[in-house]
Amino acid sequence: MALNPIKHGIGMTSQRTRERLIARLREEGIRDEVVLAAMLEIPRHIFVDEAIASRAYEDTALPIGYGQTISQPYIVARMTEILRGGAPLGKVLEIGTGCGYQTAVLSKVAQEVYSVERINPLLMKARNHLRELRARNVKLKYADGAMGIPELAPYDGIMVTCGATIVPQELLQQLAVGGRMVIPVGSGDQVLTLIERTPDSYVQTKLELVKFVPLLGGIA
Ligand code: SAH
Repeated sequence: MALNPIKHGIGMTSQRTRERLIARLREEGIRDEVVLAAMLEIPRHIFVDEAIASRAYEDTALPIGYGQTISQPYIVARMTEILRGGAPLGKVLEIGTGCGYQTAVLSKVAQEVYSVERINPLLMKARNHLRELRARNVKLKYADGAMGIPELAPYDGIMVTCGATIVPQELLQQLAVGGRMVIPVGSGDQVLTLIERTPDSYVQTKLELVKFVPLLGGIA
């Protein structure tokens, strides 16, 4: 039987195509070698529909159905680099699994990853993709991510991949002392924000303008 060229990484979805993406991310200023190595390893094309798989290594967001998008590779790299802050990550919580691409990248740079999604069919797709990659240190949950997962807190890192008008209080509470949260904040213009928890406060650093689908309340 002939190999499916998309699934088997021939042509536009090959390792070489991915190497070109990594070279572009370097040019765009991504410096963390651990993040670049993780993104070289994870095949982004398996996370999108076959009809657009040939565009998977363009540095652009793509539709994944249900009005949602897979984040632009630059943003995935940048947010992962910020979350790491140059140090290994233990337990990480992601809000907004989508198709699971960012989750897969996190699984390479953290010990344990928990990811929450409010659209169940997307979560099921993500589950299949992550199974295909044998990402065993990942657990997915169908829930309203604004609540976090309190029973597993605290988290060394929290990454929110949808735009919040305000930082959910629950997520602040679930961040470990010494932990880092990366979250797009704002209505209209969103600012990628780093929040670091110290023993007695939270330190916020505003980083760059971004555009994410909104964080919505409840489950779909
Ligand atoms: N991390 C994804 C980005 C997905 S887009 C990637 O790698 O490309 C953002 C996702 O956040 C959407 O799937 C959307 O359904 C989800 N989302 C929005 N509000 C949410 C909430 N309150 N809880 C959980 N997921 C949410």
